[in-house]
Amino acid sequence: MREFTPIAPGRVSVYLCGATVQAPPHIGHLRSAVCFDILIRWLEASGYQVTFCRNVTDVEDKILRAAQREGVPPWIVAERNQRAFTWAHDAVGCRPPDIEPRATGHIPEMIVLIRRLLERDHAYPAAGDVYYDVRSFPAYGALSGQRPDQMRPAEDSDDGGAKRDPRDFTLWKAAKPGEPYWETPWGPGRPGWHLECSAMATKYLGPSFDIHCGGMDLIFPHHENEIAQSVAAGDGFARYWLHNGLLGLAGEKMSKSEGNSLLVTDVLSRVRPAELRYYLVQAHYRSLLEFSEDALDEAAAAYQRIERFVMRASEALGRLGIDYDSGSGDAGAGPGGAGRADDKLAGLPVSFRSAMDEDLGVPSALAAVHACVRDGNQALAASDKAGARASLVGLRAMLGVLGLDPLAAPWAGAQGGSGDRLRQVVGALVKLTLQQRDAARARRDYATSDAIRDGLEEIGVIVDDTPEGPRWELKR
Ligand SMILES: [Zn+2]
Repeated sequence: MREFTPIAPGRVSVYLCGATVQAPPHIGHLRSAVCFDILIRWLEASGYQVTFCRNVTDVEDKILRAAQREGVPPWIVAERNQRAFTWAHDAVGCRPPDIEPRATGHIPEMIVLIRRLLERDHAYPAAGDVYYDVRSFPAYGALSGQRPDQMRPAEDSDDGGAKRDPRDFTLWKAAKPGEPYWETPWGPGRPGWHLECSAMATKYLGPSFDIHCGGMDLIFPHHENEIAQSVAAGDGFARYWLHNGLLGLAGEKMSKSEGNSLLVTDVLSRVRPAELRYYLVQAHYRSLLEFSEDALDEAAAAYQRIERFVMRASEALGRLGIDYDSGSGDAGAGPGGAGRADDKLAGLPVSFRSAMDEDLGVPSALAAVHACVRDGNQALAASDKAGARASLVGLRAMLGVLGLDPLAAPWAGAQGGSGDRLRQVVGALVKLTLQQRDAARARRDYATSDAIRDGLEEIGVIVDDTPEGPRWELKR
């Protein structure tokens, strides 16, 4: 762990290796997206202006094989699955990248990078391919901490003996019949996988940029190769590397027939998007997250505890005419409405801030969240309005950083506060309906009062008649 200092004061550039779009996303893909979404939210809350670039690999062996199986052109497979990824990222509340470049849109940049490597004798053409000469770059292996003689050979080509060293990897692959290709000075072909990230990261973030992220499975060879390409060509490249741990599936059978596929669409039929997000962020981003249905259920229950307090407290305070919205607070140490970073930070408990500053310690940050929920519930039970309000404001500030505030987008409606407004209108409509029911009962018109109850139930509104009057909630 090192102190973070950006290249330009107040600004941070972040590159994340995105998806190879050969199939729809499973929740392992989402873990990487959500972990680094928290990084970006925390940098922004800390006052940095973040430029976020995440690539899409839309030409690759796996995409070509999927297209062949389906009997369609590869771009159809890539386009469809890219849409599925975008939908999944949006569904769990990830801030979209500022730029999402696709490999096939950056062939000229890749050709320039190959030329620079050839000029500096770090690459060589052979039999229609172009290879990176690993022995020409003494720092090769530094990121993954491997000695060159321990490394496994590059598996990305069937070179037929054209390589100088088995570890040399492909920058450019000669065209094969039926595959997409582009013309280059070294013959027609398509890019090797590693090349695109070097070309696109430096195009959009500059020759040197701040943070490079990706899954731990990418450290070798992918990130090692990105460094080799860019640094040998003369670029400074990434100054900090963050790698997320993978989602382990050891205990789970993955067959669809058992109904527990981990495709995002399937998981989102079992839990709500905010609950899935909570599940994916609760473990430290570097740790292995071992998947189980029980753990998913526990995460959903933990999120619901938080949500229940936020809803109860905001309703109770709203009923009393107390302004609980952190955006327009007039008392206490609320975050204020100006959106300035120091204001945002001011509303956050010190324990939360120091946890996040310590390599994004979300587990400790969530401990602060749950402590705040406990305090808030006690304050509500004791009719301590000031205490409940303080808890609610602090809690919403923390949840905002984690992308988990039930009253904020996207959970409360994608258009800013429209979710709050809709909730109010629905609440008023249900109240009106229940008054009609009571009026029907009072005049002994039980057919009407029963019809109203049944009608509400049909649209998912469950009514509970308590001594203090009717309570209602939405059926889950
Ligand atoms: Zn990459």
